[in-house]
Amino acid sequence: MASESADQTLETLGSKDAKWLGEYSRVHMNVFGTPLRVMDHGEGTYVWDVDGNRYLDFLGGIAVNSLGYAHPAWVKAVSEQAAKVAHVSNYFASEPQIELAAKLLELAGAPEGSRVYFSNSGAEGNEAALKLAKLHGRTLAADGSSRIIALVDGFHGRTLGALAATYKPAIREPFEPLMPNVEFVEAGDAEALKAAFEASGKGDKAPVAAVIMELIQGEAGVRPVGAQFVKQARQLCDENRALLIFDEVQTGIGRTGAWFAFQREDLSDGVTPDMVTFAKGVAGGFPMGGMIAFGGKLAALFAPGSHGSTFAGNPLGAAAGLATLSVIEHEHLLANAEARGTQLREGLMACGNPLYVSVRGRGLLDAVELGHPCAHAVMNWCLERGLIVNAVRADALRFAPPLIVSAEDVDEALAILKNVPADLPDD
Ligand SMILES: *Cc1c(COP(=O)(O)O)cnc(C)c1O
Repeated sequence: MASESADQTLETLGSKDAKWLGEYSRVHMNVFGTPLRVMDHGEGTYVWDVDGNRYLDFLGGIAVNSLGYAHPAWVKAVSEQAAKVAHVSNYFASEPQIELAAKLLELAGAPEGSRVYFSNSGAEGNEAALKLAKLHGRTLAADGSSRIIALVDGFHGRTLGALAATYKPAIREPFEPLMPNVEFVEAGDAEALKAAFEASGKGDKAPVAAVIMELIQGEAGVRPVGAQFVKQARQLCDENRALLIFDEVQTGIGRTGAWFAFQREDLSDGVTPDMVTFAKGVAGGFPMGGMIAFGGKLAALFAPGSHGSTFAGNPLGAAAGLATLSVIEHEHLLANAEARGTQLREGLMACGNPLYVSVRGRGLLDAVELGHPCAHAVMNWCLERGLIVNAVRADALRFAPPLIVSAEDVDEALAILKNVPADLPDD
């Protein structure tokens, strides 16, 4: 089977996979390309396709499956909540929703008066943050012309507001005009950020309402923006009454070895944000996300009617979130993320494969830089040997395994990665 020997290959595509993928393409819009396999079930760090092939998952549903597959505590919590009450609308509240919000405020170390807004995805968490930033912007420029600064290579989601702050021209430009007054500054370029602030009041440039950034740019290839730059951004925001928003949709909820990446000195130099957004890993696979506004004054800019969503914070999602946070806490998964991430990065550099040039990342959000742009071929080579990795860029592989990943799992992944032919074809 899949991972018994690193040299054994799976049949490229089994007959059931092939049949279902044909059917998939007949009924779905082609926004994701053709999926790699059709998955059937999972357990722990493994997932099986419809042909019965087993894969060790080092992508974790893109940093979503914090507890791996079918974690007993998660399954129990979700099943019990589903049998009790799944959804009530926001005309009503539920205990899990209230408990989850309180827990997230505590884990974020948010000051008294801080508040949570729940969403159903990362993009929607950022939509909430951008809307709150716009209301703050009205206190600086009453006509609503305030600006938002985002980073080159930043990714904040596909909805129209979040897309306006997402850099990649190929995915943004076809939908322009988008939300106006968003500008991009190179990550690490404090002078450019300063210049963007200093432009306020000159020509038609309005004040800056907010700066939005990831602390590690995930979709751009797991690239930390740099603690010093983060600190400079905080200072400029403070001097100019602008808000600092950390998009922790990918880095949050234990992924980097801390509950939030901004709690790592080596990523933030101790800086705290005015808002933090979260999603991917928060509910262990249930669609859930949100935004925390730090401090009561900021949070109070949202009043009844300012924002909302039918599903947001529903009891089923909240129960999934509570179970996920509880397991992360009680199974010491922050420490595990730190240790297993170090093991993975060191193992890649020590395995002797000349394809691997350098590693980066924190905890279990990691990448290896490849000597030539063959990431898709490497991804497929690994997949055929029972290991899921992600070609995040043509020249980099991304790893975001479940936070429950064991030392043996990392050894098993390394045994496959060690043997990847260094001369696979470029993308
Ligand atoms: C994935 C991601 C998003 C978008 O989240 P969705 O749930 O896909 O809408 C936003 N920001 C960052 C940093 C992400 O990694």
